[in-house]
Amino acid sequence: MAESYDLIVLGSGPGGYVAAIRGAQLGLKVAIVERELLGGICLNWGCIPTKALLRSAEIYHYMQHAKDYGLVAQGISADIEAVVKRSRGVAKQLNQGVTHLMKKNKIAVHFGDGKLTGQGKLSVTRDGKTEELTAKNIIVATGARARDLPNLPTDGKRVWTYRHAMTPPEMPTKLLVIGSGAIGIEFASFYNDMGAEVTVVEMLDRIVPVEDADVSAFLEKALKKQGMNILTGAKIDKIAADANGVKARITGKDGKATDGEFSHVIVAIGIVPNTENIGLKELGVAMDDRGFLKTDPACKTNVDGVYAIGDITAPPWLAHKASHEGVIAVEAIAGNHPHAMDPRNIPGCTYCHPQIASVGLTEAKAKEAGYEVKVGNFPFIGNGKAIALGEAEGFIKTVFDARTGELLGAHMIGAEVTELIQGYTIGKTLETTEAELMETVFPHPTLSEMMHESVLGAYGRALHI
Ligand SMILES: Cc1cc2nc3c(=O)[nH]c(=O)nc-3n(C[C@H](O)[C@H](O)[C@H](O)COP(=O)(O)OP(=O)(O)OC[C@H]3O[C@@H](n4cnc5c(N)ncnc54)[C@H](O)[C@@H]3O)c2cc1C
Repeated sequence: MAESYDLIVLGSGPGGYVAAIRGAQLGLKVAIVERELLGGICLNWGCIPTKALLRSAEIYHYMQHAKDYGLVAQGISADIEAVVKRSRGVAKQLNQGVTHLMKKNKIAVHFGDGKLTGQGKLSVTRDGKTEELTAKNIIVATGARARDLPNLPTDGKRVWTYRHAMTPPEMPTKLLVIGSGAIGIEFASFYNDMGAEVTVVEMLDRIVPVEDADVSAFLEKALKKQGMNILTGAKIDKIAADANGVKARITGKDGKATDGEFSHVIVAIGIVPNTENIGLKELGVAMDDRGFLKTDPACKTNVDGVYAIGDITAPPWLAHKASHEGVIAVEAIAGNHPHAMDPRNIPGCTYCHPQIASVGLTEAKAKEAGYEVKVGNFPFIGNGKAIALGEAEGFIKTVFDARTGELLGAHMIGAEVTELIQGYTIGKTLETTEAELMETVFPHPTLSEMMHESVLGAYGRALHI
């Protein structure tokens, strides 16, 4: 007989496992279905292991610059195998953490390929055996996978997705990164710091194109200074890989084609949602033409009892957005009335070197939306803590509605900005204005003082510049 639950969550990434925990907290009988590893892409193949890799690269960078701090570090070298081993260890620790959380919350874990077989019905198949589950509500949280380039299948040898780049068979010597979104830029930054010769090709006219244009320009300059080759407005005309490497013909923004040879290529051109072959079409669940599911503000699809969260729904495709949606969906299922999430209050972070972080509207988007804006921009060089850290590169930009003083957006580049952005995110969620931010006391000496200065700067009142 089919095992029956109040809630089944399909997929155990940061969307799914958080939804399952919240469901259990609300007293629901919950099952979670996972075909691979608890914790999904984020913990096992995404956010966390990349940050572990980038931490090694950061420390390696500091060791190489020990002299700047009056220290002597000799005979420094990097052991890519050991760096990767550490990153895998960190991922494993978190996977075990989620396993523990499932047990603690009495969530039934069913390993296998899940498929919706009807409203409230789901089958789980593993090693040729199928079990049937039923539930009043099902949350689909099956995440996404890397998009391949047509004509260049990723093989893990010379042509890599993020998964291969995270567990490389060898250290690339000459690396081509196609795509300059967060994933492409983080790997470009990691391998550049680790000593590879890195070229980034971006089709659009600037790198990290979703960020504020000033951040893109600053990052491009900083990465070029670190030795990276960056080609924007460029496209790959031809590309082929064999056992010895990768050959690519790249047309630059000047229209000139150049032939290049690389040891490896990372394809980071976006994601494809895992929404095929899991019974969604048969149930009539509405999708857009790229396969992402359409949901209402409570994360409900057009089919009763079917909810969808995380990377299979609208962007931004980020772990914290997936988790927040997981909670919203479960609260709605439990009959509560959760607040809808405002995409303009979802922060985004990229952990390249220097780091970037943002929330809300860019200056250009604010103007496009019809706002008259006031903009503050404060450089790291004006901050005592940044200078003491030896990290005086970067800036913090704030964008306000000139009429009401509402904080519309904040955009940062520089050391530790991924830890700073939450200050503005709280402010934005509370619909703060310049007046409250100006009245807030910031501790000294901290990098956060630049957040204050940037706000003051928008109104011509910056003190340290
Ligand atoms: C390299 C990289 C770095 C990233 N860095 C960051 C970052 O720093 N910050 C950030 O916020 N985001 C980051 N992301 C994005 C983040 O990983 C995703 O937004 C997040 O994992 C989405 O969560 P999810 O729950 O929607 O799906 P996922 O984490 O993708 O989990 C989906 C789960 O569903 C399972 N599944 C799929 N189909 C089935 C099925 N039929 N049956 C059973 N199980 C199934 C999968 O095995 C998987 O475990 C990164 C992504 C990558 C690739």
